[in-house]
Amino acid sequence: MMRERLALLFQVQRQDRAISELSARLERLAARRRELEERIDQRRAELAEKRRALDDLRRESHRRNDEVDSLDYQMRNYEKQLRESIMSYREMEALKEKLDWTRRRMEELADGAIGLMNEIEAKEKQLAGEAEALSAWERGMREEIDRVAQETAARQAELERARERRAELAAQVERHLLEQYERLMRDYRYDEPIARVEGDSCSGCKMWLSENTRDRVREGRELVVCENCHRILYWE
Ligand SMILES: [Zn+2]
Repeated sequence: MMRERLALLFQVQRQDRAISELSARLERLAARRRELEERIDQRRAELAEKRRALDDLRRESHRRNDEVDSLDYQMRNYEKQLRESIMSYREMEALKEKLDWTRRRMEELADGAIGLMNEIEAKEKQLAGEAEALSAWERGMREEIDRVAQETAARQAELERARERRAELAAQVERHLLEQYERLMRDYRYDEPIARVEGDSCSGCKMWLSENTRDRVREGRELVVCENCHRILYWE
C-alpha cells in the first residue's frame, strides 16, 4: 500500500526537520561561543593596552629621573668649581648664573618627576583593581562558555542520533519514492516535501485540492502530488 510507504517517508521527513533544526541550533551555539570568546579577547586587549601605556609612563619617569640626576651632578660640579677654581669676577658671575639656572631647572624637573611617580602609583592601583575585576568577570564568561560547550555536545549527539535514525528509515523507503522526495527538497528547496491534506487544501501551498485528488490520497493506493506545488500528498 502506498499509504504505509508514505507513512515511512513521513517519518524520514520528521528526522530531516529535526536534523535541520539541530544544525541551526548548533550554528547559533557556535556563534554564541565565538561572541563570548571575542568579548573576553577584547577586554583583555583593553587591559593590555592600559598596561602598555603604564609602561610608557614608567619609561618616561625613568628618563626624567635620569635628567634630574644629571642636572644634580652638573650643579655639584659648578659648586665645586666655585669653591676650588681660581677665576675672574666675570667668570664667577657667569658660573653662578649657570648654577642658578641649573638649580631652577632641576627643581622644576624634580617636581614633575614626583608628580609622575604619584600618577604611576595611582594607575598601578587602578590597574590592579581592573585586572581583578576582569578575572572575576572572565570566570563567569568561561562558565557560560562551558555551558555552551555542554549544550553543543548534547545537541551534536542528538544530531548524530537523528542522522542514524534517518538513514535507517530511508533504507526502508522505496528508492524511487525517496528520490522523488529528495528531488523536491533539492529542486524546490522544500523543507517539507510531503504535505498533508488539511480540510480540502494542501498543507504546503494552501491551495484547494479537487475532490478527486483528495479521494485518491485518502484511498492511499497510489502516489498523488499537489497539482500546484508538486508536494507529495499524505493523508494523516
Ligand atoms: Zn500544494
